[in-house]
Formats: sequence, structure tokens, C-alpha cells
Amino acid sequence: MSEPRTYSSDPVVLPLRLDPEPAPVPGCAVCRELANVRDRARAGGDVTTVSDCNVYLRRHPAGH
Ligand SMILES: [Zn+2]
Repeated sequence: MSEPRTYSSDPVVLPLRLDPEPAPVPGCAVCRELANVRDRARAGGDVTTVSDCNVYLRRHPAGH
């Protein structure tokens, strides 16, 4: 039982798993726009913008 355990590499995109992403609040135009920007940023591989959008989705200036 001494053979080394090998892991097949999963197709994980993000190196870090943090909190679950915030969902846009229904009816909030700011949330909807941020979600759109986040989707586009993710499609383009721009993880920095995705992260920024998540921060704003959690607490953007307009509030709810
Ligand atoms: Zn909102």
C-alpha cells in the first residue's frame, strides 16, 4: 500500500474558492447591471472585474 496517490487534475478555473457569489436582487437595476458586467468579465477571463462586481453586488451605494 505504498504507491503514491495521484490526482487527476480537475478543470478548475478559479484558484481560490471564497464565498459563494452574491446574487443580484430582483428588481434592482444596479444589481442587474453589475451581474451583466460580471458575466461579461468572466467570459473574458477578467477575474479582477468579476471580484469587483461581487463586492459591489454585496453592498453597492444605492442600497435596497
Ligand atoms: Zn442592488
